[in-house]
Amino acid sequence: MAPTIYLLFSLTFQLLLLLTVSSESASNTGGDASRIPSKFLELAKSPKVFDWMVRIRRKIHENPELGYEEFETSKLIRSELDLIGVKYRYPVAITGVIGYIGTGEPPFVALRADMDALPMQEGVEWEHKSKNPGKMHACGHDGHVTMLLGAAKLLHKHRQDLQGTVVLIFQPAEEGLAGAKKMIEEGALKHVDAIFGIHLSNRIPLGKAASLAGSILAGAGAFEAVITGKGGHAAIPQHTIDPVVAASSVILSLQHLVSRETDPLHSKVVTVAKVHGGNAFNVIPDSVTIGGTLRAFTGFTQLEQRVKEVIIKQALVHQCNASVDLTPNGKIPLLPTVNDEGLYKQFKSMVGDLLGEESFVEATPVMGGEDFSYFAKAIPGHFSFLGMQDETKGYASSHSPFYRINEDVLPYGAAIHASMAVQYLKDKKASTRSDSPKGFHDEL
Ligand SMILES: [Zn+2]
Ligand SMILES: [Zn+2]
Repeated sequence: MAPTIYLLFSLTFQLLLLLTVSSESASNTGGDASRIPSKFLELAKSPKVFDWMVRIRRKIHENPELGYEEFETSKLIRSELDLIGVKYRYPVAITGVIGYIGTGEPPFVALRADMDALPMQEGVEWEHKSKNPGKMHACGHDGHVTMLLGAAKLLHKHRQDLQGTVVLIFQPAEEGLAGAKKMIEEGALKHVDAIFGIHLSNRIPLGKAASLAGSILAGAGAFEAVITGKGGHAAIPQHTIDPVVAASSVILSLQHLVSRETDPLHSKVVTVAKVHGGNAFNVIPDSVTIGGTLRAFTGFTQLEQRVKEVIIKQALVHQCNASVDLTPNGKIPLLPTVNDEGLYKQFKSMVGDLLGEESFVEATPVMGGEDFSYFAKAIPGHFSFLGMQDETKGYASSHSPFYRINEDVLPYGAAIHASMAVQYLKDKKASTRSDSPKGFHDEL
């Protein structure tokens, strides 16, 4: 197809139309993108922007919503984007929102925030405690949404300096339901060249960013197995087929997958975290249910298969049957999150420019999982942790009922997001120019 015709029908062109109707006038920074980073942090820390972010974060925190149910959160995001003057696509993957800032033309760089909360009761007593019983923002996603809205404000104010288009991805259902995968299936990454994600961390000092090149988070999956025998009197075991003994044997055998079948230099985890079976001292139950998690940076699918095989075959040794579910409660396995080396270098240098070289921390991989992995598998991606540690207060870890966000981190997150987008577009445009003197249109 001729380049011009292709462009006519492409989303790129639609976006161009979408973006040129914006009415608010942009501030003029003289088109010098290299001056933007420090301005972003100053602006994000200004009382007006900071107080606005704190208000948004607290509002989201008070009304936590679970995966694919983030209707109010999504509405709040859209109303703030409307107020800023950012155009967006909605709905994407049920509650997801995708905003666009910039020229409407390539290159396209995406920034991602997740919107969902966890099914747990908040234990922190404070004015803005969760108002939804049994639901809590205990992973900082309220902060992630706020930081991306903060970035939207900064980027929109400086939109005339953008050398391409920033795509703001607000995704649903990170916690176990792989909302990122659904976003991709619904076209969230169409035309996008690279994507950046930030996760808050209270193990890193406030305002410091941590990442690495390569695998930063493990592939993660869950399993649940029902081991069935034949119940009966606990004092007459010969008339029963005891699933408790079979389950015990299964649990021990699963330990060998890591200790005996895995290269000691390759990290893996198989944990049986729940065991349910029996209600009386003198009754052998009909069945026992076990469940747990598995993690790996490489060989994840093989590990899943071995878990299944060991459970079924070991149960059989004890004359029991076993059924194994590798997606219990609809939980979708997560791929390992792998950072692109080029993006890592760009990120590290941007953090140095924005906050000083001492503010970049070389991360060590962790066995936690993130559905950002789906984005980073589809296109070059970079995932980082942003520190919010306050040693005077001692913050609980994520997924704890006592988890809290240090709100002083919000301006850092907004500025890092915005600066990274500006920097990426600038570098990409420069490299495209040197690669192709005819310009990007010929590449489409
Ligand atoms: Zn989480
Ligand atoms: Zn999280």
